[in-house]
Amino acid sequence: MASDSFSSLAISPAQIANLESLGYKKMTPIQAQSLPEVLKGKDLIAKAKTGSGKTAAFGIGLLNSINPRFFGVQALVICPTRELADQVGKELRRLARFTQNIKLVLLCGGKPLGPQIGSLEHGAHIVVGTPGRLQDHLRKGTLKIDGLKTLVLDEADRMLDMGFAEVMDEIISHTPDKRQTLLFSATYPDTIQQMSRRIQRNPVTVTVESEHQSAVIEQLFYEVKKHEKNDSLLALFEHYQPDNAVVFCHTKIQCDEVADFLRGHDIDAAAIHGDLDQRERDQVLVRFANNSCAVLVATDVAARGLDIKSLKAVINYELPRDPDIYIHRIGRTGRAGEKGIAVSLFTQAEEVRVNAIAKHQKKPSICDVPESLDRHSSYKLKAPMVTIQLDAGRKSKLRPGDILGALTGEAGLEGAQIGKIDIFDMSSYVALEAEAVRQALNYLADGKVKGRTIRARKIR
Ligand code: AMP
Repeated sequence: MASDSFSSLAISPAQIANLESLGYKKMTPIQAQSLPEVLKGKDLIAKAKTGSGKTAAFGIGLLNSINPRFFGVQALVICPTRELADQVGKELRRLARFTQNIKLVLLCGGKPLGPQIGSLEHGAHIVVGTPGRLQDHLRKGTLKIDGLKTLVLDEADRMLDMGFAEVMDEIISHTPDKRQTLLFSATYPDTIQQMSRRIQRNPVTVTVESEHQSAVIEQLFYEVKKHEKNDSLLALFEHYQPDNAVVFCHTKIQCDEVADFLRGHDIDAAAIHGDLDQRERDQVLVRFANNSCAVLVATDVAARGLDIKSLKAVINYELPRDPDIYIHRIGRTGRAGEKGIAVSLFTQAEEVRVNAIAKHQKKPSICDVPESLDRHSSYKLKAPMVTIQLDAGRKSKLRPGDILGALTGEAGLEGAQIGKIDIFDMSSYVALEAEAVRQALNYLADGKVKGRTIRARKIR
């Protein structure tokens, strides 16, 4: 059996020390199976999803073959969404800490091209980006990947679903034939196999079974009438009382309607889907991750890249047709050994979907909708934190410590009243306990952060 110790790998002692400092004590199953092959330079198809440690499975590999003295793009990671690209970028930066000189540039849509071109001109060893924006840079000639050593397609199935097949082919046509290609995908449909045959050479296949999930994720199915779905949803919230949840819907309109309905019943919910602009999406994801929004109502595509450490419940307002998508959705709860619940509503017409899911795993438990729904119930789900937005960010060299310093210094807040701080290019978000918001805003109205006044407001 392969060892699961990082020290069994052909990587530098500095990287092993770095992994230790990150708290990575042993390899996750996907890492233990992939890394020995990746480090040998082999092509790889890995069936793995977010949360499995897949970023390090390709990250440690690609970092190992980078020559910091050569200023050209040596590794390219293509991701389906900006959120995922962002997360992958962050994880790669952590993994690259063992050496000083590796530069990573993020190339995602929704951001101006100019600064990205500037960063590329300064030289980048690793590029992480979304397909459309990578294509733009390649067409303009502002990105050169002809010296690439490692190409990674992350969540390749999702990129195909999103219609990026041709764009990906165009991007790959700019890479050298002699390269290592690592393909990660949560599902393994024919289209992925065809793509692998086109772009890979004798790939090693690695699959990590998601069996362990059933142990920590309680899966419950409720048959409901279509017109009763909203009330049943409410009954389930009241019954299970999760601290937070993601509710999956099929369409954008449905997301908006369900989120409105929940808010109308004192449940702190926000919708996220492809119709929101970048800023709105950032805000919703920030608020959910920093505990100032309790429920996210999302489509599958919009929920990609969402990495919440302790998600209590996944609720399928609509069941997906594809059982793999179901597995992927519910895999977001019950992480890190915590118990999670996955609750699914289905109508009689959708029973085939429940059966398809049952075929993939142990028999699902079909339950009756709890009777506890009381129209006059006082059940409320309020997020414990509130987010304030500051009109300054990375571009003004603002760092989390500056904000923390101002709020716990002159503004007089307790450190414990301040939650997660997220810094974006032009703005920053700070989670605060509800009672501390007024005091913080009063201070920021004319007080200074890092020597200047910064406009701030509460967002919802
Ligand atoms: P990913 O599947 O790449 O999104 O990773 C999920 C989470 O697991 C991330 O927060 C990683 O930082 C963390 N992680 C990755 N590898 C390990 C490891 N070997 N030990 C502990 N945590 C890890």
